[in-house]
Amino acid sequence: MNRLLIAALFACLSLPVCAEGFITRLLNKPVPGGVAVVPLAEADTPARVRYQGKPVLTVREDDKRWIAIVGIPLTVKPGTEHIESDTGERLNFTVQPREYASQHITLRNQQQVNPDAARLKRIQRELEEQLEAYRQFSARQPSNLLFDRPVDGRLSSAFGLRRFFNGEERNPHSGLDFAVPTGTPIKAPAAGRVILVGDYFFNGKTVFVDHGQGLISMFCHLSAIDVKVGDEVVRGGHLGKVGATGRATGPHLHWNVSLNDARVDPAIFIGTFK
Ligand code: ZN
Repeated sequence: MNRLLIAALFACLSLPVCAEGFITRLLNKPVPGGVAVVPLAEADTPARVRYQGKPVLTVREDDKRWIAIVGIPLTVKPGTEHIESDTGERLNFTVQPREYASQHITLRNQQQVNPDAARLKRIQRELEEQLEAYRQFSARQPSNLLFDRPVDGRLSSAFGLRRFFNGEERNPHSGLDFAVPTGTPIKAPAAGRVILVGDYFFNGKTVFVDHGQGLISMFCHLSAIDVKVGDEVVRGGHLGKVGATGRATGPHLHWNVSLNDARVDPAIFIGTFK
C-alpha cells in the first residue's frame, strides 16, 4: 500500500492536474506553530489520520483529493514529522525553522506574574477546563478555512512571541491580538458551536467556538459575552464585545486558533502570515 501511495504521489507531481489547490497554497506553512497540509491517497472517503495520537482535520480540496490539515505545536523541532492513518500508514512532512521575537510586558499587579497558592489552584482548574475544550473533536466540516477577521482593526501582538512579564519568562503568546477599543463587536470567523464560556484569572471573559474536526477558536479579555454553551453561530455571527478583563494591559481582542489540540498562528487563516 505504501508503494502505491508513493507511486500516486509521484504521478501527482508530474501532472499539472494535481497542482497545489487553493487550501494548500493558503494554509501550508509547516513551521513550529504553523500548519502542514498533507495530501492523502485517492479515495471516496478520507482516511482517518492522527498526529501525535490526536485526530486530524481532513477536507476535500477543489472537490478532488483529500488532504489532512495538521496543526504543529510551537514546541515541535524542525525536521521530519509524520501523520498516521488508522490502518497504520505513515505520511511524512517536513517542519521548517521559524524565529519568534521576544516581548517584554510590565504588569503593575504582581499577582498576575507570580500568583499566590489560592489563585494557583483556581488557575489550574481553569486551565484544565480550557485544555479539555481544545481537545474536542466533532464530526462537522468547517464552513470555511479562509477565516473572516473577528474584528476590523490593527494587528498588534503576533502569535508565538516569547513573553517576559516583569522580566520573568512565561508561556509564549498563543494567539493573535487586535488593537481595538472596548465594546467592539466580535464576529465568528467561521460557523460553529459555542463549547465553553468562562471568566478566567488570566484570560478574563472567554468564548470557545468549535468550527469542526478539532478546528477551534478562542476569544478572550472580553467585556461582554453574548452567547452561551450549546449556541450555534453562523459565519459572522455575534459572539461578544472586546474588553480588557483578565491579564490584559489594555483593551484588545486576543484570538487563538487550535488544530488537533495545537495552538497555531491565526494569521495563516486570514492570509497575513509572514
Ligand atoms: Zn494576546
